[in-house]
Amino acid sequence: MNTREDFVAEARRCLQCKNAPCVVACPAHNPIPRFMKAVREGGFAEAKTIWDETSVLPEICGRLCQNETLCVGHCTMNKLGAPLKIGELEAAVSDLFPLDIPSMSPPNGRRHLVIGLGPAGLSNAMEMAKMGYFVDAIDANPDLGGALINLIPGFRFDHRILERIRHKVEAMGIRIQYGVEVGKTVLLSELLPRYDSVFIACGSDLPQGAEIETHGVPLWYAHDLLDRQRYQPSDLKEMLGKAVAVVGLGNVAVDMARVLVRLGKRVTIVYRRSVNEAPAGRHEIQAARDEGIEIRELRLPRSCSIASGKRSLLCDRTAVVVALDGTKTIETVPGSGERIELDDLVYATGQRSSDTVFNGTDLVLRPDLSPYSTSNPNVFVGGDRVNRHKRIVDAMVSGIEAAKLCQGGSR
Ligand code: SF4
Repeated sequence: MNTREDFVAEARRCLQCKNAPCVVACPAHNPIPRFMKAVREGGFAEAKTIWDETSVLPEICGRLCQNETLCVGHCTMNKLGAPLKIGELEAAVSDLFPLDIPSMSPPNGRRHLVIGLGPAGLSNAMEMAKMGYFVDAIDANPDLGGALINLIPGFRFDHRILERIRHKVEAMGIRIQYGVEVGKTVLLSELLPRYDSVFIACGSDLPQGAEIETHGVPLWYAHDLLDRQRYQPSDLKEMLGKAVAVVGLGNVAVDMARVLVRLGKRVTIVYRRSVNEAPAGRHEIQAARDEGIEIRELRLPRSCSIASGKRSLLCDRTAVVVALDGTKTIETVPGSGERIELDDLVYATGQRSSDTVFNGTDLVLRPDLSPYSTSNPNVFVGGDRVNRHKRIVDAMVSGIEAAKLCQGGSR
């Protein structure tokens, strides 16, 4: 799909389903049938405006959303041939208007602060600016994008897209301070009196710990190794040996494995569930396999050892047991231990958010009020701190939903 004619032809395949399962499956509930109708009539500007109703980051979501399990996976056309290429069309239409900004309400004199400019912070900042707020944003990194720029490799996501976002954000009047870490460089308590509302979306900046005895085998975390603020690929080439086992099968694990393969490493992914249950995107998993990465599913890492100078990872085979109520548990198969030779072990089994941003305050989360609420009625949280799935579209939705609550903020 390269030309406008291609876009029109693709949109013509849409059945305009009354129940629109694609919309139901989309966490942002993007109005996909109306968008398709506008595209097939050649109304690209109208299609872009329709998308603006529910999304502020179509150039990101169109490229990175795991739509094969969301809108595309639920498209009625799956039963009749091939599903609509919804994400590709979303990105393609957005690319026709790269610097276009949404319509803005007149200034309302209220001030809003966003801490962290990943997908959640960006969407919240843009939503609040659209509503006429004067928006300041602070990010600890030297550029915006959060995990999009720090963790997702360039072969999966063209980082130049973020330059477009920066132009848009600046055109919307959002002022950004880079290289400032709230909780260290400046305290939240010093910032609060200056704003009517605050949205905190610092992402997941800490890796989850690994419960494994390594017995001298080097253990790394993908979250650290992928972070371009810390390491460049040439560093990883030197730091890690030839054979690497990566534990986990989310997108971070697959990105890690694919980065290492490009550095000449022999990579085995070890995952305790079946590939079908993995949180990583299907395209990403297939790409990893195509690049020669071995995926050993249904294996639970137990311990590492070094014998006769050879390092290995001992894994138990696992089985997924389904209870009568449908709940699934993982059980190890007795006596099924097997060894995988390796030089280095990399864990990619999740991240969590640090609480540095709250230093010097007594704020606590109030999930009983809303997923985004804190004990201060003017301060809200979003992004990976509240997103169970840790998908980009959920981060964007959290920024948009929290913006509705932020608009109720008052000093
Ligand atoms: S489910 Fe597929 S065919 Fe039906 S409205 Fe959505 S995109 Fe169109």
